[in-house]
Parts: sequence; C-alpha cells; structure tokens
Amino acid sequence: MEAKANAKAKVKKMKPLQELVRPNIWSLSPYTSARDEYKGHEAKVFLDANENPYNDPVNRYPDPLQRDLKARICAIKGVREDSIFFGNGSDEAIDLMFRIFCRPGVDNAVAIEPTYGMYGVCADINDVEYRRVLLDDNFQPDADKILAAVDANTKLIFFCSPNNPSGNNIDRKVIDKVLDSFDGIVIVDEAYIDFAGVPSYLQQLSNRPNLVVLQTFSKAWGMAGIRLGMAFAQPQIIDIMNKVKYPYNINQLTQKRAMEEVMQHDRVRGWVESILKERARLMEKFARLDCCIKVYPSDANFFLARVKDAAATYNYLVGQGIIVRNRSKVALCGNSLRVTIGTVAENNALLEALSKY
Ligand SMILES: *Cc1c(COP(=O)(O)O)cnc(C)c1O
Repeated sequence: MEAKANAKAKVKKMKPLQELVRPNIWSLSPYTSARDEYKGHEAKVFLDANENPYNDPVNRYPDPLQRDLKARICAIKGVREDSIFFGNGSDEAIDLMFRIFCRPGVDNAVAIEPTYGMYGVCADINDVEYRRVLLDDNFQPDADKILAAVDANTKLIFFCSPNNPSGNNIDRKVIDKVLDSFDGIVIVDEAYIDFAGVPSYLQQLSNRPNLVVLQTFSKAWGMAGIRLGMAFAQPQIIDIMNKVKYPYNINQLTQKRAMEEVMQHDRVRGWVESILKERARLMEKFARLDCCIKVYPSDANFFLARVKDAAATYNYLVGQGIIVRNRSKVALCGNSLRVTIGTVAENNALLEALSKY
C-alpha cells in the first residue's frame, strides 16, 4: 500500500520548455526564406526568391511548412494542424529531438533495448550519452528500471511501439507511468501503429505536454521511397522543430505525391488487411519449419523468429535470392531473423525455400 501511495506521489510536472531546450536553440533566430515572408497564393508574379521563371512547376521552392498536406493529415489523424511536423523521414524528427533538447557532452537520453537503431546513432552523432534499459524476455520494459536510469541531465526517453525488431506492442501501463513520472520529453515511435490493433498515443497529445508521437508514410502508407515522416506534439515543440529544420526539408515532388496518396488513403486499409492476413498465415507456417525454434508474437508488419542457426539460414536464403534481416547481434535477439510480411507470392517463395533447406 505504502509503495503504491509513494508511486502516486511521484507524478511530476514537465519542466518548463525553456529549461529543457538547449539555450542556443531557445534563442535562435531562424532563417527566413522568401516563401516564409510571403505566404499567400493569390499573387501572380513571383520575383522574390531568385528562382528560374522557366521549368514549371519544379522551378519554384516548395512550401516550407507544407500547409496543404497538413490540412489533409490533421483531418485523418484528428490532431490540430499546428501539432504536426513533417520530416525527411521520421529519422529527421528523431535527429531534431537530440539537436533541440540535448546539450552535446552534457545531456543524455534513455531508451528501451533492443529497439530501432536510429535513436542510438543520432545520439552518437550529436555526442549525447545514450542509456539502454534492457527489456525482459517478453520484450517488455520495466517502468522503474527506466526511471532509475534517469538523472538531472536526462532530456529524452524513447519508446517504440510496436517495437522494432521484436514486433510487439509495448505495455501501455509502462509508457503511461513514464509519461507521468518523467519531467522531460517522452517520444513514442509509432511507425507500425497501423498494424497494431491498439489505439495511438495521438489521442493523448492534448493532455500530455511532454509527449512526442512519431509516425511515418514509410510502412502502412507504402511510401518509403518519398521520405516523409510525421511528428506530433504540442504546438510549442512543433514551433521549435520548424525553427531548427532545413527550410525546405520536404521537397516539391514528395509533397505532391503525398497529397495524391492522401486523397485515396482508403487504399491503405486494404493493404493493411492483406498484410495482417498474411502475417497470421506466414507466422504459423514459419513456426513449423525445421529451422525454426520460436516465432515471437507480432503487432507489426514483420515478425522476429529464433532459428537454429541464423547466419546459415540467412546465407542460404541470400543464395535463393531472398533477403531477410539477421538480427543476431542485437541484445536479446541471438540467432534471430526479422522477416517482413510480403505479398502472398513472396511469402510462399520464402516458405518454399525454407522447406527445402
Ligand atoms: C521504419 C521505421 C521508421 C521509419 O523511418 P522513416 O525515416 O520515416 O522511413 C521509424 N521508426 C521505426 C521504429 C521504424 O522501424
């Protein structure tokens, strides 16, 4: 009882943003582009940006704030337009978190382990200490262990749910407890949320000032090639991200193609349904293969499987022209392969090759 009362008493308010943001970023005067200063669409003659008047439409700089696309996405996601940031992949948003909040050589970030490799790489690039808190055998985190890794210089805590490479949804009670108890920024990477069968953390944005949710067009939306990621957060955080990003981070072709896809976004639901159906079939068949020891549960568009000899199986498949991901060197993933769900034909090719292995 007493422990419970103590835990309740520990609910913390987020530090003021000015205390969390690096002082140089807080006081930054951002670059102002010609297209920032003039925002209207009514003008007919544009002589403000030193563009070439020929070669319409790619001769013009794109909208630095992608307003048309945001207007569409806010309706689909049910969030305010000023709570949306678009990046050159979610990877840009991940990097921005470090550049905005973490003083190099001073601050640190905490993350679950194993998880998506980019958090650690961005930490290294920005000279920020990265503290890994090991998941349990079911790839679930312990909130108290995460909070024990936090000190006065911890600015960011990263969750990834469903998690990569394990594929499972992270226990919401753990994420909620960390959101309640940590006075810095909590990032929940939902790259695979469309496959997860659980609600998005987007619904909590309005009452969680320290929450940043990452999503992407690269997975369920089928647009990894155009490099478009999303971050959702309170407007003050989004403002700072817009100040720090490259002025024209989302190019014209990407904005145009994303608009076209958004107009027919009901297609995404059909793709997700097929992938989920195939996920169930492929996982069941894969589990029965001679080479397989265990298939871990998945809430994503891939699954992790422990096999007898991951390197040998991987190399055999390469010889058959089939590429999976060998995750054996990742913590808790010894002899494990990560398999993306493909089309029926692709999945059958994998099963057939492995049945002869
Ligand atoms: C694939 C993936 C992304 C997507 O990154 P993009 O840069 O948007 O393509 C983000 N987070 C995780 C965990 C992923 O697995």
